[in-house]
Amino acid sequence: MKDCIFCKIVAGEIPSKKVYEDDKILAFHDINPVAPVHVLFVPKMHMGSLNDIDPSNIDYVSHILEKIPELVKTLGLSNGYRVVINTGADGRQSVDHLHIHIIGGRKLSWSF
Ligand code: 5GP
Ligand code: ZN
Repeated sequence: MKDCIFCKIVAGEIPSKKVYEDDKILAFHDINPVAPVHVLFVPKMHMGSLNDIDPSNIDYVSHILEKIPELVKTLGLSNGYRVVINTGADGRQSVDHLHIHIIGGRKLSWSF
């Protein structure tokens, strides 16, 4: 989608530090990490938020969930981690392309 930062990252138009990629999804390090490990998982197909999930795109999202156990092993998160999906204005979503935060690498407080 035009003018979407994460679509541009998926297309390689904006550089990112990739940690996983396949035909459906991309994972890359967050530019402004809130913990020692902070990775974003995005579907390669643009969808604005969790509110846009429907039968035509649910396989992109379920594929991310399926890949999390594999990814966290490569990131060294054997002691646990947090999964966050900020949604909408009150959820403080700042990029309108669905993304799943994987956060860890230290003992987290509720506010990180
Ligand atoms: P949100 O607040 O929407 O849940 O999360 C958006 C995340 O995207 C933020 O944690 C922010 O640091 C990250 N972010 C925004 N722009 C970029 C970028 O250009 N590259 C990377 N790697 N992360 C970004
Ligand atoms: Zn997008």
